[in-house]
Amino acid sequence: MNNSLDSYKPAAPDTPRASIPREHCRGVVPLDAVIASWMIPWLSSWHLLELVKQWESPLNVLSCVPFRENVEAILSVARERGLAFRPYFARKANKCLSFVDEAIHLGIGIDTASEIELTQSLERGADSSQLICTAAIKSDRLMSLCTKNRVAVVIDNADEWDSLSCVANSLQAIAKGAIRISGFSFEGKKLYSRFGFDIDALRGQLAEQKSKHLDTSIEIEGLQFHLDSHSLEHRVAAITQSLTLVDQLRCDGFPIKYLDIGGGIPVNYVSSESQWSAFWHEHKQAMLGKREEITFRNHTLGKKVNGTEVFGVPNVYPCWQKPAKESWLAEILDSELLERSHRRTSVADAIRLRGLELRCEPGRSLLDGCGMTIARVEYRKKHVERYHLIGLSMNRTQCRTTHDDFLVDPILIQSPCRNGVRSKKPMEGYLVGAYCTEMEQLSLRRMFFPTGVERGDLVVFPNTAGYLMHFMESRSHQFPLAKNLFVQPAQAMQTRLDDLDFWDHRFISIPNVPPTKTTS
Ligand SMILES: *Cc1c(COP(=O)(O)O)cnc(C)c1O
Repeated sequence: MNNSLDSYKPAAPDTPRASIPREHCRGVVPLDAVIASWMIPWLSSWHLLELVKQWESPLNVLSCVPFRENVEAILSVARERGLAFRPYFARKANKCLSFVDEAIHLGIGIDTASEIELTQSLERGADSSQLICTAAIKSDRLMSLCTKNRVAVVIDNADEWDSLSCVANSLQAIAKGAIRISGFSFEGKKLYSRFGFDIDALRGQLAEQKSKHLDTSIEIEGLQFHLDSHSLEHRVAAITQSLTLVDQLRCDGFPIKYLDIGGGIPVNYVSSESQWSAFWHEHKQAMLGKREEITFRNHTLGKKVNGTEVFGVPNVYPCWQKPAKESWLAEILDSELLERSHRRTSVADAIRLRGLELRCEPGRSLLDGCGMTIARVEYRKKHVERYHLIGLSMNRTQCRTTHDDFLVDPILIQSPCRNGVRSKKPMEGYLVGAYCTEMEQLSLRRMFFPTGVERGDLVVFPNTAGYLMHFMESRSHQFPLAKNLFVQPAQAMQTRLDDLDFWDHRFISIPNVPPTKTTS
């Protein structure tokens, strides 16, 4: 690439335009993304072109400002209801260390899901009460690291209990633990989960564990659950049943101090409800052959198609939803709950009156608005099926979750052309990436570019900090990982590389780096 930025003179490079420049790229059925305000000056200037030139494509550009606002919003919901409350930021949703620093700075906790996540968080200065370990798989090494540093381990099963107890005994220490529970009843059925102790069998199992270990090696301080769904009703049912269990466990001699209700606070990615419903209407029409395709080769996005019927839940995040974020949490806390004494009370009061601390583990919702992923266009090609393929310097694991698609429309930033002239011919097609497979679609949605696309243009995927940029990220073909640049709120248009991008080089020596704060 040898685009000359010198020849490109936008009207006033540093002045943010009031509006978001969505006009150069839209889905054929549009889904406008919610855009955080810090992103607008970047989307409306040539700065991103410079950054991609310097740091290569793809590039993640992030900000801690929305993180701070998101934390403040849930804290104030709890404060207004008089609750003792602490969120633990689920850092698996984004790998950057700046968010860990920010969480520590704000005095909230951090939920760690692996040894490296925990090691890094300790190194950054989190103290033991600020940390919890919810790793799905816990080696002795991890449990030992937790125990030495007095970090609470969320115990998933009896084997973990036994190992933690052994680890604690061999360290002559007392481990801190919380018990993960699942199997809540909802409308006569159990909510499925592979995690945790089944709520109905727990008391029996605990009695067994207690007698087996004469339990002095583990201090059980809390109950925890995490639900996969975003349903408010599921949360209220789970909290109600957990509170009954708290009462029982306290009678059984477990001094339960907190209830941790996990993560899953919903986020809105699409700015308009009507666009969201129009999209699914048009998608259905396309599935039934009543209009031209709006997804790659008429991809169903997880829906089932049977003759004249389209049904089922799509395999996508519900990108438009209400309530979301702090309003969702507020609605849960204000929901009515029926105590076993048949007294009706709000969820918040039921927690408060028990002298329980409420905890949660938000990942996605704290990262809403915190990042965008930017990739350079390397080719356009007219396919025999008459659409264009637009090849970007990135692979599909760099903007992806376990869902079929992230759905929102990217923003196109036009680069100065080599000869200074853009063809401006409208174009329609699909974004494809760098992995050598036929299914390497960056998005399954058919995009429309009213004034065309050129080599060197940038495609910006908005709001990717929560899961999208890191959760599935892989290094196949030995492509380097995307760099992570943080914008500096105090200095206009200045950025700083996240320490993660230096830390990564240490992976190889990790077994020799057990940075523990205390060795008891
Ligand atoms: C993934 C996870 C979270 C975070 O969930 P979000 O949907 O990102 O809020 C919290 N707790 C546990 C145990 C998890 O596995």
